[in-house]
Amino acid sequence: MSVHMPTTVDEAVALLADNPGARLLSGGTDTMVEVNFNHLKPETVIGLRRVESLRDYRVSSERIEIGAGVPYSRMETGPLADALPALAAAARTVGSPQIRAAGTLGGNLGTCSPAGDGLPVLAALDADVNLRSPRGLRSVPFAEFMVGVKRNSRLADEIIESVSIVPTRGYQDYAKVGVRNAMVISVASVCFVHDRNTASVRIALGAVGPTIIRAREAESWLTGQVDAAATLPNDENIASEFARRVAAEARPIDDHRSTSAYRRHAIQTLARRLYIRSTK
Ligand SMILES: Cc1cc2nc3c(=O)[nH]c(=O)nc-3n(C[C@H](O)[C@H](O)[C@H](O)COP(=O)(O)OP(=O)(O)OC[C@H]3O[C@@H](n4cnc5c(N)ncnc54)[C@H](O)[C@@H]3O)c2cc1C
Repeated sequence: MSVHMPTTVDEAVALLADNPGARLLSGGTDTMVEVNFNHLKPETVIGLRRVESLRDYRVSSERIEIGAGVPYSRMETGPLADALPALAAAARTVGSPQIRAAGTLGGNLGTCSPAGDGLPVLAALDADVNLRSPRGLRSVPFAEFMVGVKRNSRLADEIIESVSIVPTRGYQDYAKVGVRNAMVISVASVCFVHDRNTASVRIALGAVGPTIIRAREAESWLTGQVDAAATLPNDENIASEFARRVAAEARPIDDHRSTSAYRRHAIQTLARRLYIRSTK
């Protein structure tokens, strides 16, 4: 196996162009599992950990830019957590401290599992995924990036460079259900964002469909009921009806982790819980 360790994005892009089919490696927390189980034997690996620009983030009042190589541990606290509490909440649920120190948003996007904890947050925040190739930079809305179970629209010669997010004003949070409290892959997850700047409520669901699902019908029903430019009302009827509508938009399946019925129930409970929390 030949391993390249570029130090700039341009160098990494050139290496990928010269070695079609090379495996990009960020934290390795998905890739090394596949290698260890002999599911994957890459001939060429391009390690991205020494590309400093990928491991950086910038927060301003207009835009938040998170490098693909920023590990979850750096999302849990500090300026990024202050700007994006939902991302911080999601990061805190990922694996163990060791996994959070190594695992990255770029790797979550690269794998594109419907159970990936970073992805509902990117969906609810209407993030753009920025892809770098020899042709330059291409930005793709998250909704067009994830196209199926572990499938994304990244082209073979593109590197995920960063994600861009327009800051919101208001409550945002993430919650997940798994088979235990820690070191667990999501059975169902919900990201809730109330943006008073755009008078919108956005809710994204993980692990209950082939892609992350935005519950758009429930979002528009809710904004038809409430003044979303203001604080949301602490109203049990609205919370229950909203949660029922959100759960109706899930497309869960039975698999080794859970049943479709339990997943839908979990989504309804999480949606209701986050709505109520948003009113406090
Ligand atoms: C014990 C354990 C527990 C886990 N728990 C969770 C959990 O709770 N929640 C969760 O969401 N995930 C979990 N995971 C999965 C994993 O940690 C995450 O998906 C993580 O985000 C992967 O990031 P990484 O940097 O390690 O990816 P890598 O393994 O380095 O890469 C993953 C994929 O993305 C591609 N890739 C990486 N970087 C780029 C880039 N810049 N451009 C293009 N492609 C790229 C790689 O080629 C590969 O296909 C767990 C894994 C383990 C081993």
